Amino acid sequence: MGVQKATARQALLCPKPGRVLLRKHLRKRKKFSSKAPLVSRPWWSELPGWIALHAERGPVRKCWEGHRLVLDSQDGRRHGCCSRCFEQPAAGETVLVCHACSWTRCMACAAMPRLPRLSEDPLFHGPNLPCLLKPPFGEKALAGNGTVIVCPGGNYEFLCPNEGLPVAAWLARHGIQALVLRYRLLPRHSLEDALADLEAAVALVRRHKDGPVAAVGFSAGGHLVASLNLRLAKKDRSSGGPLDAQVLVYPCIDGSGWGKPGNAGFWDPACHKNADALLEGQQALVGGRGFAAPPSFIVGSTGDAVCPAKVHTDPYVEALRKRGITHEYIRGNLGEHGFGLDPCWSSAALHWLQKRGFGKKSPARSWAGSRLATRLPGLSGPRHLTSASLF
Ligand SMILES: [Zn+2]
Ligand SMILES: [Zn+2]
Repeated sequence: MGVQKATARQALLCPKPGRVLLRKHLRKRKKFSSKAPLVSRPWWSELPGWIALHAERGPVRKCWEGHRLVLDSQDGRRHGCCSRCFEQPAAGETVLVCHACSWTRCMACAAMPRLPRLSEDPLFHGPNLPCLLKPPFGEKALAGNGTVIVCPGGNYEFLCPNEGLPVAAWLARHGIQALVLRYRLLPRHSLEDALADLEAAVALVRRHKDGPVAAVGFSAGGHLVASLNLRLAKKDRSSGGPLDAQVLVYPCIDGSGWGKPGNAGFWDPACHKNADALLEGQQALVGGRGFAAPPSFIVGSTGDAVCPAKVHTDPYVEALRKRGITHEYIRGNLGEHGFGLDPCWSSAALHWLQKRGFGKKSPARSWAGSRLATRLPGLSGPRHLTSASLF
C-alpha cells in the first residue's frame, strides 16, 4: 500500500487503525525503514521467550517452547493444569497439549485473543521509525475527552506486544482514545531518543486533540514515562511536565541493574554501550532532587522478581506522598513481571482515568470543512494493523 498524504488531525481522529509517524524531530530522514525488523530473521529462533511469545502469537496454537499443540482429552496423570489460567481442567475435557513438553492449555484460554505473528507485529519493526499506532476503535472513543499514550515495556531493547495495542483497544472500548508509542530502542538508539519520541508524541496529540493527555507505561515503558516528567520539569519548572496523569504498571524505577552487565538482561550485548544513559535520572526517580510527576496511578507486585514493589514502586510512591502529589497505589502479590492488562488493576485504573476527565463526552464539535495547517510528512495505511493481525 502506498504512502498517502493526510493531516495529523485526520490521522489521529480517524477510527481506522494505522500509524502516525513522528518524523519531524528526526535528523537522518533518508534512513527510515518501516519494514526492517528489530532483529534480522536468521536470529529469530534465538530470541528470548518473552518476546518470541510462541504461545501467544499467530493463528497456530503452540507451547511456550514453540511446539505445535494437539487436541487431547484431559488426563490428570499425563496433563497438568492450564498454563495460562492455572485451572485444572476436568477429567475427559478437551484440552490442547504439547506432547514434547507436557504443556496444557484449556479451551477457554485457547480461545482468547491472539497477538500478531512476529513477522506482522508493528512493534517488532521500524527500528528507526518512531510512530503512534492506533488500535481499531469506533466513534465512541473519538467522542471521548482526552487521549492516552501507551508505552509498552521490553527492557528498552524490544516492545512487548501484550503491553501495546490490546491495552489501547481496551481503553478505546471504554470510550478513551488511546495510541501506542513505538519508541526507538537500544542498541541503535539511546534513552534520549526514546524520550524525544515520547515528548514529540505528547506534543502532537496536544496540538490535534482537546482534553487531558496521560501516558500508561509498563516496565521500561514506565521508566520512560516517569523519566519524561523529570526532563520536562527541568525545562520549565513551573509547568510540572506535559502530562496530566500517568499510569505506571510494574515500572522499572530503580534502573541501577542496567549498569551491571550481569543484571541488565539485554539479549544483545551491544545494548550495554548505551545502557549508562538509562541511569541518568536514577536518583531523582527514586525520590531525590529533581523528582517530578503528575497525578499517578501505580501498580507494583510483590511477586515480581524483575521489578519488585519494594525496590521500584514503593520509593516512587513514597516520593509522591512526600510531595503531596495525588496518587493511587495498587500493591500486593499480583503475579510475576509482565502480566500486562489484568483485572487486578485495569478496572481501578479506568475508573481513576475517568475521574480525571478521560473518556467523558466532549462538547459536540465538528471537524468537517476545517482547514488544517499542520501536515505530517506521510501516513502509512493500516497494512500491519488489521484487526485480524492484531488479535
Ligand atoms: Zn486456561
Ligand atoms: Zn512443547
